[in-house]
Amino acid sequence: MKALRTRSQERILNLLKTTKQGTSAQDIYVELRNRNQSMGLATVYRSLEALKLEGLVQMRTLANGEAVYSLAQQDKHHLTCLQCGMSIPVNQCPAHALELELQATHKFKIFYHTLEFFGLCTQCQLAHTAEASHS
Ligand SMILES: [Zn+2]
Ligand SMILES: [Zn+2]
Repeated sequence: MKALRTRSQERILNLLKTTKQGTSAQDIYVELRNRNQSMGLATVYRSLEALKLEGLVQMRTLANGEAVYSLAQQDKHHLTCLQCGMSIPVNQCPAHALELELQATHKFKIFYHTLEFFGLCTQCQLAHTAEASHS
């Protein structure tokens, strides 16, 4: 069964299919305008909310507090550097088996899960060490 989607939702879905990283609602708004598919920012938010409840889109909050959206299909995780904000994708998922188990034991339809690791990337660790040795 396929839920009825509005044209705004379709446009946002199509846009998210072409973006690799998560995109903020503001960026989606600007990108749609560039594609001559303009819609109000409120419509962008409303559509994202509807897509989120359908389990098609997932939201992730970056270290700077910004919310970014991406398609929910991929089971992707990241190592996020607190210093420079770089996100390194992680290709393994230790939670996948657990997800299937929880889905069965709780009869809960899980759309997606999040798992993120925070710390310092190699570059920032080096910068930190250099800084420490100067003081
Ligand atoms: Zn860094
Ligand atoms: Zn996962």
